[in-house]
Amino acid sequence: MRIILLGPPGAGKGTQARILMEKEGIAHISTGDLFRENVKNKTVLGQQVESILKSGKLVPDQITIKMISERLDADDCKNGFILDGFPRNEAQAEALEKMLQEKGIKLDAVVQIEADDEKLVERISGRLTCSGCGEGYHDRFKKPQHTDSCDKCGATGKFTRRADDNEKTVRERLNVYHGQTKAILPFYEGRGMLKTVDGMAPMEDVTAQIEAVLKGGKGGDRPSSPRPGG
Ligand code: ADP
Ligand code: ADP
Ligand code: ZN
Repeated sequence: MRIILLGPPGAGKGTQARILMEKEGIAHISTGDLFRENVKNKTVLGQQVESILKSGKLVPDQITIKMISERLDADDCKNGFILDGFPRNEAQAEALEKMLQEKGIKLDAVVQIEADDEKLVERISGRLTCSGCGEGYHDRFKKPQHTDSCDKCGATGKFTRRADDNEKTVRERLNVYHGQTKAILPFYEGRGMLKTVDGMAPMEDVTAQIEAVLKGGKGGDRPSSPRPGG
């Protein structure tokens, strides 16, 4: 399975991508995670992007596209992948299409996770991540079973909050989403690939909706008018 997860910051892309990754045994490629890893390891790329991430603006396309192209060549992508956070503007969507053609890879679907801006600020300000295994949590919506240890990997004292998960940066990221990222929806709609799910539903329901649209079930790209004779 080769899919793109699209949606505003906090919509649940990372949460759903990790579930799909485990269920399907495919790679989870998050551009945000890749950038943050580089910042943490103080690589040249990390130094180039650190202040951009803090601002909530997009990293230049050239840097982002090169990083994704290299990542898609890794062995763990052979079985399939979930792109989380890429593409985020029209130039990236076009570059991805060209890149996949060159690599001989076909995308199965683009899943848009819809969500309300006001609720997203609340989601993002409560976001916690285990730096041991990457599992995501939330102060209210997905508390770890024991306050300071990870349900998944058992690490203690490893919960972190992202430097860009503050209200000011979130507003900027939402502006970027509405101003640039949403513009790629018609690109995929025109190719008959766009499926939409309701990201405001509880996490398990969002997972079920994604599984349904990927199976070609309800929702997604079906015409709403009845079929002739049906
Ligand atoms: P994204 O990757 O789209 O930015 P995340 O998956 O990191 O979003 O989710 C943002 C925060 O909201 C996390 O703390 C996560 O635990 C929580 N969250 C994700 N999906 C839901 C949901 N359906 N309902 C409530 N909280 C959610
Ligand atoms: P969220 O989970 O809140 O949607 P991400 O972790 O995906 O956020 O992205 C964090 C930051 O990384 C973005 O605000 C942006 O600065 C940078 N970034 C991530 N993906 C891209 C991309 N495709 N193009 C440019 N910048 C990106
Ligand atoms: Zn963990």
